[in-house]
Amino acid sequence: MKSIYGKLIIGFLVSIVFSFSVAGYFTIRKNSSELSQLTYEELNNSSDYVINLMKIVDSSDLSSVLGGYAKTSEVNFLIEHEKESVGYGNMYNSLKLTNDEKSKLYNYPEIVVYKNQSSIKQLSKSFVMNNQKYIITIQKDSGNRESIFLNSAVIALFCILSAGSVMFLVLADIIVKPISRLNKATNELSKGNYRVRVNYSGNDEIATLNRSFNQMAQQLAKTEEIRQQFISDVSHEFQTPLTAIQGFATILKNEQLPDEQRQKYADIILFHSKRLSTLSKNMLQLTLLEGEDLKLNKTEFSLVEQLIRVISTQDPLALKKDIEIEFNRPKNDIFIEADEARLEQVWINLLNNAIKYTNEHGVVTVTVKRGTKEVEVSIADTGVGMSKEAISHIFERFYRQDKSRNVEGNGLGLSIVKRIVDLHLGTIDVESREEAGSVFSVKLPYERNFLGKFNNLTKKEEKG
Ligand code: ADP
Repeated sequence: MKSIYGKLIIGFLVSIVFSFSVAGYFTIRKNSSELSQLTYEELNNSSDYVINLMKIVDSSDLSSVLGGYAKTSEVNFLIEHEKESVGYGNMYNSLKLTNDEKSKLYNYPEIVVYKNQSSIKQLSKSFVMNNQKYIITIQKDSGNRESIFLNSAVIALFCILSAGSVMFLVLADIIVKPISRLNKATNELSKGNYRVRVNYSGNDEIATLNRSFNQMAQQLAKTEEIRQQFISDVSHEFQTPLTAIQGFATILKNEQLPDEQRQKYADIILFHSKRLSTLSKNMLQLTLLEGEDLKLNKTEFSLVEQLIRVISTQDPLALKKDIEIEFNRPKNDIFIEADEARLEQVWINLLNNAIKYTNEHGVVTVTVKRGTKEVEVSIADTGVGMSKEAISHIFERFYRQDKSRNVEGNGLGLSIVKRIVDLHLGTIDVESREEAGSVFSVKLPYERNFLGKFNNLTKKEEKG
Protein backbone atom coordinates (compact mmCIF):
# COMPACT_ATOMS: atom_id res chain seq x y z
CA MET A 1 0.00 0.00 0.00
CA LYS A 2 1.49 3.31 -1.06
CA SER A 3 -0.45 5.93 0.87
CA ILE A 4 0.35 6.92 4.46
CA TYR A 5 -3.30 6.26 5.19
CA GLY A 6 -3.02 2.57 4.25
CA LYS A 7 0.30 2.21 6.03
CA LEU A 8 -1.14 3.69 9.22
CA ILE A 9 -4.14 1.35 9.18
CA ILE A 10 -2.08 -1.75 8.45
CA GLY A 11 0.38 -0.67 11.15
CA PHE A 12 -2.46 -0.25 13.61
CA LEU A 13 -4.03 -3.64 12.85
CA VAL A 14 -0.71 -5.48 12.96
CA SER A 15 0.30 -3.86 16.25
CA ILE A 16 -3.07 -4.57 17.88
CA VAL A 17 -3.16 -8.23 16.76
CA PHE A 18 0.49 -8.73 17.70
CA SER A 19 0.21 -7.14 21.15
CA PHE A 20 -3.06 -8.93 21.83
CA SER A 21 -1.55 -12.28 20.83
CA VAL A 22 1.43 -11.76 23.12
CA ALA A 23 -0.80 -10.62 25.99
CA GLY A 24 -3.27 -13.48 25.27
CA TYR A 25 -0.54 -16.13 25.18
CA PHE A 26 0.84 -15.21 28.60
CA THR A 27 -2.59 -14.67 30.17
CA ILE A 28 -3.92 -18.00 28.87
CA ARG A 29 -0.82 -19.82 30.10
CA LYS A 30 -1.12 -18.33 33.55
CA ASN A 31 -4.86 -18.81 33.63
CA SER A 32 -4.85 -22.44 32.52
CA SER A 33 -2.35 -23.40 35.24
CA GLU A 34 -4.51 -21.61 37.83
CA LEU A 35 -7.63 -23.24 36.38
CA SER A 36 -6.18 -26.76 36.57
CA GLN A 37 -5.05 -26.13 40.15
CA LEU A 38 -8.56 -24.96 41.01
CA THR A 39 -10.09 -28.00 39.32
CA TYR A 40 -7.81 -30.38 41.26
CA GLU A 41 -8.78 -28.65 44.52
CA GLU A 42 -12.43 -29.07 43.59
CA LEU A 43 -11.87 -32.75 42.71
CA ASN A 44 -10.13 -33.26 46.06
CA ASN A 45 -13.05 -31.69 47.94
CA SER A 46 -15.59 -33.62 45.84
CA SER A 47 -13.82 -36.92 46.49
CA ASP A 48 -13.83 -36.16 50.28
CA TYR A 49 -17.50 -35.27 50.01
CA VAL A 50 -18.31 -38.54 48.18
CA ILE A 51 -16.33 -40.55 50.79
CA ASN A 52 -18.26 -38.77 53.51
CA LEU A 53 -21.58 -39.49 51.80
CA MET A 54 -20.65 -43.19 51.52
CA LYS A 55 -20.00 -43.24 55.23
CA ILE A 56 -23.19 -41.53 56.35
CA VAL A 57 -25.85 -42.31 53.73
CA ASP A 58 -27.91 -45.38 54.00
CA SER A 59 -26.74 -48.11 51.57
CA SER A 60 -30.18 -48.32 49.96
CA ASP A 61 -30.15 -44.58 49.08
CA LEU A 62 -26.45 -44.31 48.37
CA SER A 63 -26.60 -45.10 44.67
CA SER A 64 -29.24 -42.44 43.86
CA VAL A 65 -27.52 -39.82 46.12
CA LEU A 66 -24.12 -40.35 44.47
CA GLY A 67 -25.67 -40.43 40.96
CA GLY A 68 -27.46 -37.15 41.67
CA TYR A 69 -24.24 -35.61 42.99
CA ALA A 70 -22.28 -36.69 39.87
CA LYS A 71 -24.91 -35.09 37.65
CA THR A 72 -25.25 -31.77 39.48
CA SER A 73 -21.51 -31.35 40.02
CA GLU A 74 -20.65 -32.43 36.46
CA VAL A 75 -18.13 -34.97 37.70
CA ASN A 76 -17.61 -38.69 36.91
CA PHE A 77 -16.30 -40.96 39.58
CA LEU A 78 -15.56 -44.64 40.08
CA ILE A 79 -15.32 -46.38 43.43
CA GLU A 80 -13.29 -49.55 43.34
CA HIS A 81 -13.22 -52.20 46.05
CA GLU A 82 -11.20 -55.40 45.58
CA LYS A 83 -12.74 -56.88 42.46
CA GLU A 84 -15.91 -54.84 42.17
CA SER A 85 -16.33 -51.24 41.14
CA VAL A 86 -19.24 -48.77 40.93
CA GLY A 87 -19.23 -45.73 38.66
CA TYR A 88 -21.28 -42.54 38.47
CA GLY A 89 -21.52 -39.95 35.67
CA ASN A 90 -21.27 -40.47 31.90
CA MET A 91 -17.68 -41.42 31.52
CA TYR A 92 -16.84 -43.49 34.55
CA ASN A 93 -15.79 -46.45 32.35
CA SER A 94 -12.61 -44.68 31.35
CA LEU A 95 -11.61 -44.21 34.97
CA LYS A 96 -10.44 -47.73 35.68
CA LEU A 97 -6.96 -47.87 37.17
CA THR A 98 -4.29 -50.43 36.32
CA ASN A 99 -3.47 -53.08 38.91
CA ASP A 100 -0.14 -51.40 39.55
CA GLU A 101 -1.80 -48.09 40.28
CA LYS A 102 -4.30 -49.76 42.53
CA SER A 103 -1.75 -51.64 44.61
CA LYS A 104 0.31 -48.44 44.94
CA LEU A 105 -2.70 -46.59 46.30
CA TYR A 106 -3.68 -49.43 48.65
CA ASN A 107 -0.17 -49.67 50.06
CA TYR A 108 0.40 -45.93 50.35
CA PRO A 109 -2.91 -44.33 51.31
CA GLU A 110 -1.33 -40.88 51.67
CA ILE A 111 -0.63 -40.81 47.90
CA VAL A 112 -2.97 -39.02 45.50
CA VAL A 113 -2.57 -39.82 41.79
CA TYR A 114 -3.26 -36.93 39.44
CA LYS A 115 -3.90 -37.29 35.70
CA ASN A 116 -4.19 -34.51 33.17
CA GLN A 117 -5.41 -34.99 29.57
CA SER A 118 -5.76 -31.51 28.07
CA SER A 119 -8.91 -30.10 29.67
CA ILE A 120 -9.83 -33.35 31.52
CA LYS A 121 -8.42 -33.52 35.05
CA GLN A 122 -8.55 -36.63 37.21
CA LEU A 123 -7.39 -37.72 40.65
CA SER A 124 -7.42 -41.01 42.55
CA LYS A 125 -6.95 -41.74 46.21
CA SER A 126 -7.64 -44.61 48.59
CA PHE A 127 -9.73 -44.59 51.74
CA VAL A 128 -10.88 -47.01 54.42
CA MET A 129 -14.51 -47.69 55.29
CA ASN A 130 -15.82 -50.42 57.54
CA ASN A 131 -12.25 -51.81 57.73
CA GLN A 132 -12.14 -52.23 54.00
CA LYS A 133 -9.93 -50.43 51.49
CA TYR A 134 -11.54 -48.50 48.64
CA ILE A 135 -10.21 -46.34 45.80
CA ILE A 136 -12.06 -43.36 44.44
CA THR A 137 -11.13 -41.95 41.02
CA ILE A 138 -12.87 -38.71 40.19
CA GLN A 139 -12.77 -36.74 36.97
CA LYS A 140 -13.98 -33.39 35.66
CA ASP A 141 -13.75 -31.62 32.29
CA SER A 142 -12.54 -28.03 32.82
CA GLY A 143 -12.80 -27.29 29.08
CA ASN A 144 -16.00 -25.33 29.61
CA ARG A 145 -14.31 -22.87 31.90
CA GLU A 146 -11.31 -22.50 29.55
CA SER A 147 -13.54 -21.90 26.57
CA ILE A 148 -15.49 -19.27 28.55
CA PHE A 149 -12.22 -17.45 29.15
CA LEU A 150 -11.12 -17.86 25.52
CA ASN A 151 -14.49 -16.62 24.27
CA SER A 152 -14.23 -13.49 26.43
CA ALA A 153 -10.72 -12.91 25.08
CA VAL A 154 -11.94 -13.24 21.48
CA ILE A 155 -14.87 -10.89 22.17
CA ALA A 156 -12.48 -8.39 23.78
CA LEU A 157 -10.14 -8.60 20.76
CA PHE A 158 -13.03 -8.11 18.37
CA CYS A 159 -14.31 -5.09 20.33
CA ILE A 160 -10.84 -3.53 20.50
CA LEU A 161 -10.29 -4.11 16.80
CA SER A 162 -13.63 -2.73 15.65
CA ALA A 163 -13.88 0.21 18.09
CA GLY A 164 -10.15 0.92 17.71
CA SER A 165 -10.38 0.81 13.91
CA VAL A 166 -13.17 3.37 13.87
CA MET A 167 -11.26 5.62 16.27
CA PHE A 168 -8.10 5.11 14.28
CA LEU A 169 -9.77 5.91 10.97
CA VAL A 170 -10.91 9.22 12.43
CA LEU A 171 -7.43 9.92 13.85
CA ALA A 172 -5.66 8.88 10.63
CA ASP A 173 -7.96 11.21 8.73
CA ILE A 174 -6.96 14.07 11.04
CA ILE A 175 -3.27 13.33 10.41
CA VAL A 176 -3.37 12.43 6.72
CA LYS A 177 -5.69 15.20 5.47
CA PRO A 178 -3.30 18.10 6.26
CA ILE A 179 -0.42 16.15 4.69
CA SER A 180 -2.44 15.60 1.49
CA ARG A 181 -3.34 19.30 1.50
CA LEU A 182 0.33 20.23 1.89
CA ASN A 183 1.25 17.81 -0.90
CA LYS A 184 -1.27 19.46 -3.23
CA ALA A 185 0.05 22.91 -2.32
CA THR A 186 3.65 21.78 -2.97
CA ASN A 187 2.64 20.55 -6.43
CA GLU A 188 1.02 23.91 -7.13
CA LEU A 189 4.16 25.69 -5.96
CA SER A 190 6.38 23.54 -8.18
CA LYS A 191 4.21 24.59 -11.14
CA GLY A 192 5.05 28.22 -10.36
CA ASN A 193 1.96 29.27 -8.43
CA TYR A 194 3.67 31.25 -5.66
CA ARG A 195 0.38 32.57 -4.28
CA VAL A 196 -0.61 29.15 -2.94
CA ARG A 197 -0.94 28.97 0.89
CA VAL A 198 -2.10 26.29 3.34
CA ASN A 199 -4.30 26.93 6.35
CA TYR A 200 -3.05 25.85 9.70
CA SER A 201 -4.07 26.11 13.32
CA GLY A 202 -2.50 24.89 16.53
CA ASN A 203 1.11 24.33 17.37
CA ASP A 204 1.84 20.72 16.47
CA GLU A 205 4.46 19.49 13.99
CA ILE A 206 2.09 19.64 11.02
CA ALA A 207 1.08 23.21 11.86
CA THR A 208 4.79 24.13 12.05
CA LEU A 209 5.37 22.44 8.69
CA ASN A 210 2.46 24.36 7.16
CA ARG A 211 3.76 27.62 8.61
CA SER A 212 7.22 26.94 7.15
CA PHE A 213 5.63 26.10 3.79
CA ASN A 214 3.75 29.42 3.77
CA GLN A 215 6.92 31.31 4.68
CA MET A 216 8.80 29.51 1.90
CA ALA A 217 6.04 30.27 -0.65
CA GLN A 218 6.00 33.91 0.48
CA GLN A 219 9.78 34.12 0.12
CA LEU A 220 9.65 32.53 -3.33
CA ALA A 221 6.94 34.96 -4.40
CA LYS A 222 9.09 37.85 -3.20
CA THR A 223 12.18 36.49 -4.99
CA GLU A 224 10.17 36.06 -8.18
CA GLU A 225 8.86 39.61 -7.89
CA ILE A 226 12.41 40.93 -7.37
CA ARG A 227 13.63 38.86 -10.33
CA GLN A 228 10.94 40.24 -12.63
CA GLN A 229 11.53 43.78 -11.41
CA PHE A 230 15.27 43.29 -11.95
CA ILE A 231 14.79 42.08 -15.53
CA SER A 232 12.50 44.98 -16.33
CA ASP A 233 14.93 47.48 -14.69
CA VAL A 234 17.94 46.04 -16.50
CA SER A 235 16.24 46.08 -19.90
CA HIS A 236 15.01 49.60 -19.26
CA GLU A 237 18.46 50.81 -18.18
CA PHE A 238 20.04 49.26 -21.27
CA GLN A 239 17.31 50.37 -23.62
CA THR A 240 17.57 54.12 -22.93
CA PRO A 241 21.27 54.58 -23.83
CA LEU A 242 21.01 52.09 -26.70
CA THR A 243 18.13 54.03 -28.25
CA ALA A 244 20.13 57.25 -27.90
CA ILE A 245 23.24 55.66 -29.45
CA GLN A 246 21.21 54.23 -32.36
CA GLY A 247 19.45 57.57 -32.97
CA PHE A 248 22.58 59.71 -32.94
CA ALA A 249 24.61 57.19 -34.94
CA THR A 250 21.91 57.33 -37.66
CA ILE A 251 22.14 61.15 -37.74
CA LEU A 252 25.95 60.94 -37.93
CA LYS A 253 25.66 58.98 -41.17
CA ASN A 254 24.55 62.20 -42.87
CA GLU A 255 27.71 63.44 -44.56
CA GLN A 256 26.47 67.02 -44.84
CA LEU A 257 26.28 67.41 -41.07
CA PRO A 258 28.24 70.45 -39.81
CA ASP A 259 31.40 69.59 -37.85
CA GLU A 260 30.16 71.19 -34.67
CA GLN A 261 26.99 69.07 -34.60
CA ARG A 262 28.95 65.94 -35.55
CA GLN A 263 31.20 66.60 -32.54
CA LYS A 264 28.20 67.13 -30.27
CA TYR A 265 26.42 63.93 -31.36
CA ALA A 266 29.64 61.90 -31.08
CA ASP A 267 29.99 63.18 -27.49
CA ILE A 268 26.43 62.09 -26.74
CA ILE A 269 27.15 58.61 -28.13
CA LEU A 270 30.30 58.51 -26.02
CA PHE A 271 28.36 59.59 -22.92
CA HIS A 272 25.76 56.84 -23.37
CA SER A 273 28.28 54.13 -24.20
CA LYS A 274 30.24 55.06 -21.05
CA ARG A 275 26.99 54.84 -19.17
CA LEU A 276 26.39 51.36 -20.57
CA SER A 277 29.90 50.32 -19.65
CA THR A 278 29.52 51.63 -16.06
CA LEU A 279 26.16 49.93 -15.84
CA SER A 280 27.50 46.51 -16.81
CA LYS A 281 30.55 46.98 -14.51
CA ASN A 282 28.30 47.90 -11.59
CA MET A 283 25.97 44.99 -12.27
CA LEU A 284 28.88 42.60 -12.33
CA GLN A 285 30.24 44.06 -9.10
CA LEU A 286 26.88 43.81 -7.36
CA THR A 287 26.42 40.21 -8.51
CA LEU A 288 29.86 39.36 -7.14
CA LEU A 289 29.09 41.09 -3.83
CA GLU A 290 25.80 39.24 -3.49
CA GLY A 291 27.36 35.85 -4.20
CA GLU A 292 27.22 33.54 -1.18
CA ASP A 293 30.85 32.46 -1.34
CA LEU A 294 32.28 35.99 -1.40
CA LYS A 295 35.28 36.36 0.91
CA LEU A 296 36.59 39.74 2.02
CA ASN A 297 40.28 40.29 1.60
CA LYS A 298 40.89 41.95 4.97
CA THR A 299 44.09 43.79 5.80
CA GLU A 300 44.99 46.44 8.32
CA PHE A 301 45.43 49.93 6.86
CA SER A 302 45.13 53.62 7.66
CA LEU A 303 41.59 54.85 7.12
CA VAL A 304 42.69 58.50 7.10
CA GLU A 305 45.22 57.88 4.35
CA GLN A 306 42.63 56.02 2.33
CA LEU A 307 40.17 58.91 2.60
CA ILE A 308 42.85 61.46 1.61
CA ARG A 309 43.57 59.36 -1.46
CA VAL A 310 39.90 59.10 -2.45
CA ILE A 311 39.34 62.85 -1.93
CA SER A 312 42.26 63.65 -4.21
CA THR A 313 40.81 61.45 -6.99
CA GLN A 314 37.45 63.24 -6.72
CA ASP A 315 38.98 66.74 -6.51
CA PRO A 316 39.02 67.39 -10.28
CA LEU A 317 35.28 66.63 -10.44
CA ALA A 318 34.64 69.00 -7.53
CA LEU A 319 36.80 71.71 -9.06
CA LYS A 320 34.71 71.63 -12.23
CA LYS A 321 31.69 72.72 -10.17
CA ASP A 322 33.70 74.90 -7.83
CA ILE A 323 32.77 72.64 -4.94
CA GLU A 324 34.98 72.71 -1.88
CA ILE A 325 35.81 69.40 -0.17
CA GLU A 326 36.57 69.76 3.55
CA PHE A 327 38.17 66.96 5.49
CA ASN A 328 37.78 66.88 9.28
CA ARG A 329 40.38 64.36 10.21
CA PRO A 330 41.23 63.19 13.73
CA LYS A 331 44.53 64.20 15.33
CA ASN A 332 45.85 60.66 15.15
CA ASP A 333 45.63 58.15 12.42
CA ILE A 334 42.95 55.46 12.58
CA PHE A 335 43.79 51.94 11.53
CA ILE A 336 41.10 49.60 10.50
CA GLU A 337 40.97 45.97 9.44
CA ALA A 338 38.84 45.71 6.32
CA ASP A 339 38.82 44.91 2.60
CA GLU A 340 40.77 47.97 1.44
CA ALA A 341 39.71 47.93 -2.23
CA ARG A 342 36.03 47.44 -1.48
CA LEU A 343 35.98 50.06 1.25
CA GLU A 344 37.61 52.50 -1.16
CA GLN A 345 34.67 51.86 -3.50
CA VAL A 346 32.30 52.92 -0.68
CA TRP A 347 34.01 56.30 -0.21
CA ILE A 348 34.30 56.84 -3.99
CA ASN A 349 30.58 56.21 -4.55
CA LEU A 350 29.47 58.39 -1.62
CA LEU A 351 31.83 61.25 -2.45
CA ASN A 352 30.95 61.02 -6.12
CA ASN A 353 27.24 61.25 -5.30
CA ALA A 354 27.82 64.17 -2.93
CA ILE A 355 29.56 66.10 -5.72
CA LYS A 356 27.07 64.93 -8.35
CA TYR A 357 24.02 66.05 -6.39
CA THR A 358 25.49 69.37 -5.16
CA ASN A 359 25.11 72.53 -7.20
CA GLU A 360 28.03 74.76 -8.10
CA HIS A 361 29.91 76.55 -5.28
CA GLY A 362 28.64 74.03 -2.71
CA VAL A 363 30.57 72.35 0.07
CA VAL A 364 31.16 68.64 0.72
CA THR A 365 32.46 67.74 4.18
CA VAL A 366 34.12 64.44 5.08
CA THR A 367 34.36 63.79 8.83
CA VAL A 368 36.00 60.88 10.63
CA LYS A 369 35.07 60.21 14.26
CA ARG A 370 36.51 57.61 16.54
CA GLY A 371 34.04 55.77 18.81
CA THR A 372 34.85 53.15 21.43
CA LYS A 373 33.61 50.24 19.38
CA GLU A 374 33.36 51.72 15.92
CA VAL A 375 34.65 54.37 13.60
CA GLU A 376 32.24 56.74 11.89
CA VAL A 377 32.80 58.37 8.51
CA SER A 378 30.23 60.92 7.42
CA ILE A 379 29.99 62.62 4.04
CA ALA A 380 27.81 65.72 4.09
CA ASP A 381 26.86 67.95 1.18
CA THR A 382 24.93 71.14 0.62
CA GLY A 383 23.24 69.65 -2.45
CA VAL A 384 19.73 68.98 -3.71
CA GLY A 385 18.82 66.62 -0.85
CA MET A 386 16.13 63.94 -0.99
CA SER A 387 12.45 63.51 -0.17
CA LYS A 388 11.46 61.12 2.65
CA GLU A 389 10.03 58.77 0.03
CA ALA A 390 13.34 58.76 -1.86
CA ILE A 391 15.35 58.08 1.34
CA SER A 392 13.38 54.86 1.90
CA HIS A 393 14.32 53.57 -1.56
CA ILE A 394 17.84 54.79 -2.30
CA PHE A 395 19.52 51.50 -1.39
CA GLU A 396 17.32 49.55 -3.81
CA ARG A 397 18.85 48.49 -7.09
CA PHE A 398 18.22 50.92 -9.98
CA TYR A 399 16.43 53.45 -7.80
CA ARG A 400 16.96 57.07 -8.78
CA GLN A 401 15.01 59.96 -7.33
CA ASP A 402 14.82 61.86 -10.54
CA LYS A 403 15.41 59.73 -13.59
CA SER A 404 14.67 62.55 -16.00
CA ARG A 405 17.43 64.76 -14.57
CA ASN A 406 20.43 64.66 -16.82
CA VAL A 407 22.80 63.34 -14.18
CA GLU A 408 25.07 60.41 -14.84
CA GLY A 409 24.11 57.36 -12.88
CA ASN A 410 22.25 54.08 -12.92
CA GLY A 411 20.96 53.66 -9.38
CA LEU A 412 23.40 50.90 -8.45
CA GLY A 413 26.06 52.93 -6.59
CA LEU A 414 24.31 52.98 -3.20
CA SER A 415 23.26 49.31 -3.47
CA ILE A 416 26.96 48.49 -3.83
CA VAL A 417 27.82 50.75 -0.88
CA LYS A 418 25.19 49.15 1.34
CA ARG A 419 26.30 45.63 0.44
CA ILE A 420 29.96 46.35 1.20
CA VAL A 421 29.10 48.03 4.52
CA ASP A 422 26.87 45.05 5.43
CA LEU A 423 29.68 42.63 4.61
CA HIS A 424 31.87 44.55 7.08
CA LEU A 425 29.08 44.26 9.68
CA GLY A 426 28.70 48.04 9.65
CA THR A 427 25.72 50.36 9.25
CA ILE A 428 24.84 53.23 6.95
CA ASP A 429 22.40 56.04 7.83
CA VAL A 430 21.10 58.94 5.80
CA GLU A 431 19.80 62.31 6.85
CA SER A 432 18.57 64.61 4.13
CA ARG A 433 16.38 67.60 3.44
CA GLU A 434 15.32 68.68 -0.02
CA GLU A 435 17.27 71.67 -1.31
CA ALA A 436 19.34 71.69 1.90
CA GLY A 437 21.69 68.74 1.53
CA SER A 438 22.36 65.19 2.70
CA VAL A 439 24.58 63.41 5.21
CA PHE A 440 25.57 59.76 4.72
CA SER A 441 27.09 58.21 7.89
CA VAL A 442 28.93 54.91 7.75
CA LYS A 443 29.78 53.15 11.01
CA LEU A 444 32.31 50.32 10.91
CA PRO A 445 33.14 48.15 13.91
CA TYR A 446 36.78 47.69 14.86
CA GLU A 447 37.94 44.15 14.40
CA ARG A 448 38.47 42.39 17.74
CA ASN A 449 42.19 41.85 17.18
CA PHE A 450 42.53 45.50 16.33
CA LEU A 451 41.01 46.74 19.61
CA GLY A 452 44.28 46.36 21.54
CA LYS A 453 46.12 48.54 19.07
CA PHE A 454 43.30 51.09 19.14
CA ASN A 455 43.30 51.28 22.94
CA ASN A 456 47.08 51.79 23.03
CA LEU A 457 46.74 54.54 20.50
CA THR A 458 44.03 56.29 22.51
CA LYS A 459 46.13 56.12 25.68
CA LYS A 460 49.08 57.66 23.86
CA GLU A 461 46.78 60.39 22.53
CA GLU A 462 45.49 61.13 26.05
CA LYS A 463 49.04 61.37 27.44
CA GLY A 464 50.12 63.58 24.55
P1 ADP B 1 23.14 56.93 -9.01
O1 ADP B 1 24.12 56.26 -9.86
O2 ADP B 1 21.88 57.27 -9.69
O3 ADP B 1 23.71 58.05 -8.23
P2 ADP B 1 23.00 55.69 -6.46
O4 ADP B 1 22.60 54.33 -6.08
O5 ADP B 1 24.36 56.14 -6.12
O6 ADP B 1 22.70 55.80 -7.99
O7 ADP B 1 21.98 56.69 -5.81
C1 ADP B 1 20.60 56.41 -5.89
C2 ADP B 1 19.80 57.69 -5.80
O8 ADP B 1 19.96 58.26 -4.52
C3 ADP B 1 20.28 58.76 -6.74
O9 ADP B 1 19.70 58.63 -8.01
C4 ADP B 1 19.81 60.01 -6.06
O10 ADP B 1 18.45 60.26 -6.35
C5 ADP B 1 19.93 59.68 -4.59
N1 ADP B 1 21.15 60.19 -3.97
C6 ADP B 1 22.29 59.51 -3.70
N2 ADP B 1 23.19 60.31 -3.09
C7 ADP B 1 22.64 61.53 -2.99
C8 ADP B 1 23.06 62.79 -2.46
N3 ADP B 1 24.26 62.96 -1.91
N4 ADP B 1 22.20 63.83 -2.53
C9 ADP B 1 20.99 63.68 -3.07
N5 ADP B 1 20.52 62.53 -3.58
C10 ADP B 1 21.34 61.47 -3.56
